Amino acid sequence: MRSLLLLVVALAGVNFAYGQPEYFYPAYTSFNKSIPTPQEFLGYGIGTHHTRHDKVVEYFKKLDELSDRVSVEVIGESYEHRTQLVAKITSAENHSRIEDIRKNHRAQAYSEASTSVPLIIQLGYNVHGNEPSSTEAALLTAYYLTASEDPETLKWLNEMVILIDPVYNPDGRDRHTHWANMHKGSPPVADPLDREHNEVWPGGRTNHYWFDLNRDWFLGIHPESKNRLKFFHQWRPYVMTDHHEMGSNSTFYFDPGKYSSNNPIVPNYLYDTVYPKFGEYFSQAMNSIGSLYFTKEAFDKLYPGYGSSYVNFYGGAGFLFEQASSRGHVQNTSTIPITFAFTIRNQFTASLATIRASLAEKPMLLKMRRDFYKTTQAQAKANPVKGYIFGDSNDQSRTFAFVNLLRLHEIEVYDLPKDITLSGKSFEKGKAFVVPTEQENYLMVRSAFEKDISYTDSLFYDASTWSLANAFNLPLAEVKTQVQKGSLLKNDLTKTPAPVEKSNYAYIIPLSDYQAHKAIYQLLSNNVVTRTSFKSFSARIKPGVEKTFSYGSLVIPVQQQVQIDPDKLYTIVQQVSKECAIDIYTTETGINAKGVDLGSGYIRTVAKPNTLMLIGTGISGYEAGEVWHLLDQRINMPVTKIDVTNFSAANLAPYNTLVMVSGNYSLDKTTVDKVKAWVQAGGTLITFKTASEWAIKQGLTKEKLQPIDTAKTISRINFEDADNLEGAKQLGGSIFQVDLDITHPIGFGFTNRTVPVYRNGKTFIKQGKNPYTTVAQYTANPLIGGYLHKSNLKKIANSAAILVSSEGAGRIILFSDNPNFRGFWYGTNKLFLNALFFGPLITVPTLEGEE
Ligand SMILES: [Zn+2]
Repeated sequence: MRSLLLLVVALAGVNFAYGQPEYFYPAYTSFNKSIPTPQEFLGYGIGTHHTRHDKVVEYFKKLDELSDRVSVEVIGESYEHRTQLVAKITSAENHSRIEDIRKNHRAQAYSEASTSVPLIIQLGYNVHGNEPSSTEAALLTAYYLTASEDPETLKWLNEMVILIDPVYNPDGRDRHTHWANMHKGSPPVADPLDREHNEVWPGGRTNHYWFDLNRDWFLGIHPESKNRLKFFHQWRPYVMTDHHEMGSNSTFYFDPGKYSSNNPIVPNYLYDTVYPKFGEYFSQAMNSIGSLYFTKEAFDKLYPGYGSSYVNFYGGAGFLFEQASSRGHVQNTSTIPITFAFTIRNQFTASLATIRASLAEKPMLLKMRRDFYKTTQAQAKANPVKGYIFGDSNDQSRTFAFVNLLRLHEIEVYDLPKDITLSGKSFEKGKAFVVPTEQENYLMVRSAFEKDISYTDSLFYDASTWSLANAFNLPLAEVKTQVQKGSLLKNDLTKTPAPVEKSNYAYIIPLSDYQAHKAIYQLLSNNVVTRTSFKSFSARIKPGVEKTFSYGSLVIPVQQQVQIDPDKLYTIVQQVSKECAIDIYTTETGINAKGVDLGSGYIRTVAKPNTLMLIGTGISGYEAGEVWHLLDQRINMPVTKIDVTNFSAANLAPYNTLVMVSGNYSLDKTTVDKVKAWVQAGGTLITFKTASEWAIKQGLTKEKLQPIDTAKTISRINFEDADNLEGAKQLGGSIFQVDLDITHPIGFGFTNRTVPVYRNGKTFIKQGKNPYTTVAQYTANPLIGGYLHKSNLKKIANSAAILVSSEGAGRIILFSDNPNFRGFWYGTNKLFLNALFFGPLITVPTLEGEE
């Protein structure tokens, strides 16, 4: 092994002791020789190569096989079928009673502690796939804990259970791993311009669908997070770490972070006592290897969905580490070259320091958790809001998705015992649910339901509000009296649609259900002629029973199908009802008591979307990924993702919709003209945020942006204040209210004109001159929750949130925001889906004198 290592060091040609165990563990020598070091197992020194995910899995399984200190639990797999595992590392004696330890540990939070229960902590790595030093450090940490005979290590193993999740984001990590390895030179190239250091779009940060998994702890959209959350709630560690990388010219960061960016509902003991105390251990550890670092200046702990904050809402302490990235094997910086091995050593050193600090400060951690529950229970008692009732009678799918997300966080949800009207809203038993505030996870209840928690800071690293209730746009009422609740839900909710009756005349589907568009796509894929109603009507769904169907309801005539006989159609609609969990009604008559009849010209045939989406360099991978994820995972509909470099050569004729998410588009004039001609010929262009600005600036539409306020008086400001003052003007992410025209095809399926939307950008579109173009408009005083700098209020008030303008035979649908934000804005997804499915049916009424 040694000769190979020496060879690698020689080839590396830099002055760092690349990949040698002595480099990582200088002070320790007594290792169990029967445990292979990562180097022995992998055949290369740690830091000389990026370790593939499958090799990481194999190594952990090898440790499990060879050592009675280690047991590996597979907790699931990623979209791309990569294994997610957690290694439990503790003494053999503890392993023999591990389930008792887990149970006693959970119970300990509520009693005056018996300190004999081993301390549970979790070390977590590599949630951002292209921040790879952390997983390599996980290998070293696992080896160290498995092989070390050091008395301190033995004490740790006797008195702790250390959970190691080596790769939070396996798909993203491998994307970057392959990139770094395939471009590695021999000798390595440190020049930052080398391809090794510059991944192509979308890079390895995100998961398969280009989502940031370090936001998903709270949203629970993806399997990686769901699996991890389930494991978390079994164990509820006292301490959790989250290891990241930052810019190559930086140093190292550990907590405590920026005091003013702490979440105000989490008890202060964590911030004013635990973080500073742990910081002393981290600083000592980093001092011992001569590494520079900083604390206090940056990174927030407001949002509950970071790996370094989630546990804070369950009485634990989450720690963030940020290491300057070598992004590759070695890279020149503004000072000395930074090697991959150096970044790994810092992460490894921080890992051991966390273990050391946790055990040394065990009494502090126990006190923190006990006090956490006492304090939060007292706060819950004092809260005038005793509970929340929520649920949309017209959309069980969306309501159930919300309930299941609450349950993922172990929030207790109860049945509504009987129908009730509260704050002018009606809630139906079976379709509405109750969440009392007085429950164990009170802070999560607040985080999910409160639209605004007041913050001391105006500078947000990310969103300033994340009210799940608003994102799901569910009717919601606060209960300020005794909460009437039914039974506690024990399982996730799944909708069982009523059996479909056979019809010889027509089937009808309300559009209000979240799954309706999935149903449309499935019907169209089966060549079923499917129509949507531009007017509401009531239909006789059974002899003597009339039901009102609102705008957008789908009508499937039985006898007007091409080559589908009534029996086959019945089989298809039954299948659609089952697979989409959607209610399908039948009628045997076309004459309707109210509204239009079923043969009306207001009921129009829907064309199957054939969608092209631009992706690639300069385009928001998050927004594109959200579209892709929505269409793949929820609608089961393919979307062609075309790289922007191939776009100029592409024939647009086969596509009826083109999606352009936010981006910095620099298409040449010929290509812009091609898009223009395609729209004029009948195409539907859907744009988000800066893509909407692009469409306006390119003259694809006559619509206008809000005028920029130029009347400025300049007063001088101290240089030092620039970051705070200018940062506060950013729109980090807040929730606003818009008024939606629910008679417009983009508003089909909505039952309430007032809709909460999420905004994290500065695209302000002027209300259209034609009164029919502004489909959704910001209200005069639109802020619902989160932070808004006063300079932005003027621009946003009464501006257009969604604007549809006819251009020739086609149209452009301009969104000033992103309706699919992070996959959890269930409440506004329908706006986008309507644009895709009904856009081609929209012709904006022309005014007298207008061309
Ligand atoms: Zn990161």
